[in-house]
Amino acid sequence: MMVAGKQQGWQGELRYDEPMAAHCSWRTGGSVRYFYQPESVDDLCAFLAELDPDEPLLWLGLGSNLLVRDGGFPGTVISTFGALSATQWLADGLLHAGSGVTCSKVARMSAKAGFTGVEFLAGILGTLGGALAMNAGAFGGETWPHVETVETVDRQGTRYTRHPGDYRIGYRTVQGPDNEWFVAARLRLEPGDGQAALDNIRELLARRNATQPTQQYSCSSVFRNPPGDHAARLIEAAGLKGVTVGGAQVSEQHANFIINTGSATAADIETLINQVQGTVEQQYSIRLDPEVRIIGEPPAEWVHG
Ligand SMILES: Cc1cc2nc3c(=O)[nH]c(=O)nc-3n(C[C@H](O)[C@H](O)[C@H](O)COP(=O)(O)OP(=O)(O)OC[C@H]3O[C@@H](n4cnc5c(N)ncnc54)[C@H](O)[C@@H]3O)c2cc1C
Repeated sequence: MMVAGKQQGWQGELRYDEPMAAHCSWRTGGSVRYFYQPESVDDLCAFLAELDPDEPLLWLGLGSNLLVRDGGFPGTVISTFGALSATQWLADGLLHAGSGVTCSKVARMSAKAGFTGVEFLAGILGTLGGALAMNAGAFGGETWPHVETVETVDRQGTRYTRHPGDYRIGYRTVQGPDNEWFVAARLRLEPGDGQAALDNIRELLARRNATQPTQQYSCSSVFRNPPGDHAARLIEAAGLKGVTVGGAQVSEQHANFIINTGSATAADIETLINQVQGTVEQQYSIRLDPEVRIIGEPPAEWVHG
């Protein structure tokens, strides 16, 4: 995979043929050709500089918004969780965090240090890098309003500092410079009552547990809410709660969740996503837009009949 003749100038773990079921919250999916976990941003930059420029790349946080098709991904995954996980207070209310830091850690660090505004991150089962890529949000809060700057890296391993103005940021969408990924961010947090923020986190997590199937394998909300409506309301109204395809099921508790009841393949989940989308469109003339990212090769039986 490495460009011939170049010296390996990076540390970290490189695995071959890694099953993505172990790295995605749906606990299913095909394998990737290479799986790289750097030890530092410098290692990552050196690795990218040596990588074949044609190698397909996939960045991975906690895989909580990702479905890798059963045929796998014929490229290299860059795994940030457990790797780019440094945090540092740079000044009062200014937190520098690596893209592999979990959202829940950011929420708790902020509250414990007496800052508020990012409690909503506590229940989002992803990394800061994934939250930046998705503009993740909950309970009225979103990631990007708290960003002062981000650090990115490009395909050749060159690093940049970017500002929110360099991105087009919307509801669960972020568009920035092509072929650049997040390695860290500086978050600006509001001074406040830390104990109240910790209480707020507890309350938000309890609300989640009461309304969402948090104990089952899922990717949380499958579809974005259409303007002025809720995907869950439309799916429930279309009579789709509890509908199954193989081991995949539309949650009985929250209709915008598809759960893996234990044996779901990625194809079961994708087929159910398509079925839900088709039924809602047929009944309400509204095409639901998937929030989850689906990547990779379809299973052989889809290709060869
Ligand atoms: C129990 C549960 C609750 C959830 N609750 C919410 C919620 O309330 N609100 C919400 O918005 N989402 C929620 N989600 C969905 C998911 O957690 C978020 O979308 C999260 O931001 C994804 O983070 P991740 O690190 O897991 O990203 P991944 O799933 O690993 O990746 C998602 C996308 O981001 C890209 N990406 C990942 N890291 C980087 C990086 N460093 N640089 C550039 N691109 C990158 C990936 O390539 C992929 O396209 C929930 C999921 C679960 C399982």
